[in-house]
Amino acid sequence: MTTDHVPLDDPEVLHHILATTDALLLDFDGPVCAIFANLPAQHVADQLREVLAGGGHRELPAEVEKTEDPFEILTYAATLSSKDARYIESALQAHEVEAAATAPPTPGAHDLIKAWHATGRRLAIVSNNSRAAVNTYLHRHDLMPLVLTVSARTQSDFELLKPNPYLVRQAATILKSPPWKCTLIGDSVTDIEAAQAAQTHTIGYANKTSKVSSLTTAGSDVVVTNMANVLRAI
Ligand SMILES: [Mg+2]
Repeated sequence: MTTDHVPLDDPEVLHHILATTDALLLDFDGPVCAIFANLPAQHVADQLREVLAGGGHRELPAEVEKTEDPFEILTYAATLSSKDARYIESALQAHEVEAAATAPPTPGAHDLIKAWHATGRRLAIVSNNSRAAVNTYLHRHDLMPLVLTVSARTQSDFELLKPNPYLVRQAATILKSPPWKCTLIGDSVTDIEAAQAAQTHTIGYANKTSKVSSLTTAGSDVVVTNMANVLRAI
């Protein structure tokens, strides 16, 4: 897809996409909340490295040794053994659930979920974070009744995370909606890649200025800098 003409905060484009959308798919960390705002990802990454060390893996590749991204450690653990991967996934899940208990909402996100539900259309969360963490957050904010399904990481499918289209397709299937009637809102290039592979529409949410160019280059159908802009376009 050419990236020359990706609209930015364009209300007409947003309205057109949403008017032809039956099912809205929301990435969790970014479009809904900032999961690691009060329990920094760097701290979680350090904790996961300790779990690896406890399993005898003290000599780590340089990039695994210094990464602040817990998911890079999960990916590395999967190259060691299924047992190591399970330990790291479980530890990451525990930290995510703790983080979800204090994660601040993204401005406009809860109003968007409520407004979408009020139109009678379906909504899912599609997340590389653990299902337990997403459920913790939704319960905490009484959003569970508004979300038809949570398609998120579990112990058995953590090798199928976005950019793999598996979680997106799973959500569309459960929502009984063909992909071309679904729109995914995500703040990472991997969200856009997963949605494109699943053939849904895409809205890139640039919650940092630097993401405008990365989400544009990824070929999002439209990029927004504020979730309230999506809300206004319903
Ligand atoms: Mg995200």
